[in-house]
Amino acid sequence: MSLDGVAGNREVVAGLWRELAHRPSHAYLLAGPRGVGKSLIAKGFAHGLLCERTLGPGFCCAVESCPVRTTPPAGRGRASAAPRCACCDGCVQIAAGVHPDFNYVARAANRSDVLIEQVRVLIDHLGVRPARAPRRVAIIDDAETLNLPAQNALLKTLEEPPGATMIFLVSDNERALLDTIRSRARPVRFAPLATAEVAAILLARGGLAADRARTLARLARGSAGRALTLAGGDAPPAIDLLKALSHARTLDFDGAQALAQEFFGARDQAADNFELIARLLEEMLCYKLMATEFDEADSATAKLMAQLAQELDVTAIAGLAERALAAREAIDSMATSRLQGEQWWMAAGAAIRGE
Ligand SMILES: [Zn+2]
Ligand SMILES: [Zn+2]
Repeated sequence: MSLDGVAGNREVVAGLWRELAHRPSHAYLLAGPRGVGKSLIAKGFAHGLLCERTLGPGFCCAVESCPVRTTPPAGRGRASAAPRCACCDGCVQIAAGVHPDFNYVARAANRSDVLIEQVRVLIDHLGVRPARAPRRVAIIDDAETLNLPAQNALLKTLEEPPGATMIFLVSDNERALLDTIRSRARPVRFAPLATAEVAAILLARGGLAADRARTLARLARGSAGRALTLAGGDAPPAIDLLKALSHARTLDFDGAQALAQEFFGARDQAADNFELIARLLEEMLCYKLMATEFDEADSATAKLMAQLAQELDVTAIAGLAERALAAREAIDSMATSRLQGEQWWMAAGAAIRGE
């Protein structure tokens, strides 16, 4: 993975490559929010450390061009039937999950945690000399789900790492790890992705209009994983919410009730829609305060946001955004979503009228 393949956190990734080149540690903890690419990047480091053609960030396998990486083979026995590519043998074996010096451990789909048996198998492997590469590389994904015995088993390996090994722990909740584990792995912290970065990832996948990608990205709270999940669902109603808001001047209680039913009737939908309206309002605030342009400035969504930003004053926009986030949190703690919706729409009507 050349660095070009990474969306966001480029400085973090570049910094780790520099460190690996100069003073590598035996263990790293890749920590940060879910869905920002930590696992993908950890696998990229494995390629970079085990590639047999070009070591380091310029390793020969790329997600975009490697069919082995884009469509992993169903099982170990089928590896030989995997699609061919121009990657070196080392990279192909990593991608196919059969490299003798690479271990990838993660929580199985039907399990709530990484099992101690998986950790024991890994530890046994790490104790054996590497078969074809200068070192062994292991990734422990979902590390926050390692239970106490599993963490304790791992601890010994981290305390006295076998000669040529490098372990990447990947976690979206580092506080779930023992202090003793964390203190033995150098931390590498990832940040949420910017909305534009998430939108770019969605667009690169194809099949989405720019406006929709942008809306999904707004909703994703910095997580490409969440955005991709959302992309498989119904289109978020950004434009409908904005239209309703632009007509809120004449909104009475019956109207607010109807809109609450439409946008906030079901709990999940309500949480997403409150998040969405908060993000839209925050963008309007930036537009108004700092004269930032909207992305896709020609889109209907952007035009409506610009119009609303003219009509509302800064306090009103900020107040409605804050109310929307408070409503989302209230729904998370089991408040009635439709009631939150009614109250929000009544507040929106008042704000538009300048009350
Ligand atoms: Zn390679
Ligand atoms: Zn390949």
